[in-house]
Formats: sequence, C-alpha cells, structure tokens
Amino acid sequence: MTFVSMTEMLQCARKENYAVGQFNINGLLWVQAILQAAEETRSPVILAASDRMIEYLGGFATIASMVKAVKEELEITVPVALHLDHGTSFSRCVQAIDAGFSSVMYDGSHLPIQDNIANTQKVTSYAHAHGVSVEAEVGSVGGMEDGLVGGIRYADQSECERLVREAGVDALAPALGSVHGKYQGEPVLGFKEMEAIAEAVRIPLVLHGASGIPLPQLKRAIELGHAKVNYNTELVTAWTEAVRAVLEENPSLCEPRAIMMPAKEALVAIVKEKINKLGSAGKA
Ligand code: 13P
Repeated sequence: MTFVSMTEMLQCARKENYAVGQFNINGLLWVQAILQAAEETRSPVILAASDRMIEYLGGFATIASMVKAVKEELEITVPVALHLDHGTSFSRCVQAIDAGFSSVMYDGSHLPIQDNIANTQKVTSYAHAHGVSVEAEVGSVGGMEDGLVGGIRYADQSECERLVREAGVDALAPALGSVHGKYQGEPVLGFKEMEAIAEAVRIPLVLHGASGIPLPQLKRAIELGHAKVNYNTELVTAWTEAVRAVLEENPSLCEPRAIMMPAKEALVAIVKEKINKLGSAGKA
C-alpha cells in the first residue's frame, strides 16, 4: 500500500510514549524534504495538506500522485500517511479519500457539538470503509493559519467523550490553549484538562499549533496522551528565511534551483530536529 492510515502508527506511539510529526506541505520541495528527513531518521511520518491549500497545490489528485511518485522515486521505506488537515466538509473528505489520501481530519469544531458529531460520523463511516483514519477537533485552536482566524476555546471534556464514543474517530484534537501561527509570549497549555480528557477518551490525542511550544511542554503533552504533533509555521519560517538569505546575499540571482535548494536543506534540518524531539526517530 502506498500510504498507511495513521491509526496503527499513533497507537504504537502512544504505547511507547513518543509522537509522530505531521508536517504540512507547501509544494514539491516540501514533499521531498519531509520524506528525506523521515527516511534518514527512520521515523514514521504524516504529510498533510491543509484543506485551504488544496487548490494552490494543484488539487487532491495532483497531491496524492505527487507524494506517491516522490515516495517511490526516493525509495522511501518508512510508513507514510497522507492526511487532509482541517477538512471543511464531508464532501472534501470524500474527495481526499477517493484521490488516495490515507487519513482525514474533519474539523467541525466551530459547529454546535451535535452537528460536529453528526458530520464526523458520516466521515468516519465513509473513511473506515476505505481503510482511512479520521481525526476530529473539539474546542478552538487559536490564531491564524491559511486564512483561518480564531480565538482559543478550551475543549469540553464531556463533548470530547461524546464525539469519540458516537463518531468512532481514531484521533482527537482537543483544543487546550495551543495556537496556529506565532505565539504571543510563552504558550500556556491546559495540562490538567489534557490529562482528564486523555484518561476519558483513551484514544491518541493530536496537538495542533505545535510551532513555538517549548520542549518541556511538548514532552509533557506527549506523556499526557498526544501521539500526533502538527507543524507548519516553523517550517514555513525556516523556508522563508533561507530564501530571503540567498536573495539578500545575491540580489541578482535568478536561477530557481540555486534559490530553492538552501530552503529545501533548511526544511530537511528542521523536520529532523522535530522528529528527534518527538522521539519517533528509529521507530519505523
Ligand atoms: P503551526 O502552524 O503552529 O505549526 O500548527 C500547525 C497545525 O496545527 C496544522 O494543523
């Protein structure tokens, strides 16, 4: 199978107290860099396309074909999941699954809980019939990503329990103080609530907005039940800084490969650093 669902990788991670990184993609070089970093560190990996980026990236079929082709070209042997991040509707999740994605997130966190559960249920029945894993969200991750802006709203424990029980998801993202994009000051995560929710739902938790979370907080979140940790902003920042440095050093440079290769190397380095911090190196 080209891609694996994330169910097994997250269950193993949970059991052994590490987490698997989700790295959002922004083009071909990102796919090459993330897969190279995962292979060289022998780590399972989740490549994600955010729903709002799908058209920019060429559409569902282009993304699935691109990741599959790069995986074969680079002879990648570690488990790879291809995931839809923040899927906005049942039909977007279906399009991803039909194109070959092995995992989807349905994000109904802005809806009343009964609607979030009903829509997630529809996604889970379609996804599970196709061997695809499902992640859902309760509460609101703060900040801004890909045009999605919002304030932090902590996940309610009884809503988390209901969603997991009634919709049968494989992983749950309970918003507990994390933020997409850059943090203003030190992140403050709700560890007490995290422990209670993990204990109550007993499925792997997902940490959104992991860019900028200091290592001790990250380790605590993993100990308390997070088996999947999502990164976008730190990758985007490393990529942009590398491109800017090349152009500032040589403003007349106009050869795409020379401009982009340092940025790709920066991505490989940061993905490896994250994999090592999450403890998934050597687990493939
Ligand atoms: P950051 O942009 O904060 O890294 O968060 C990524 C994320 O949670 C994607 O869903």
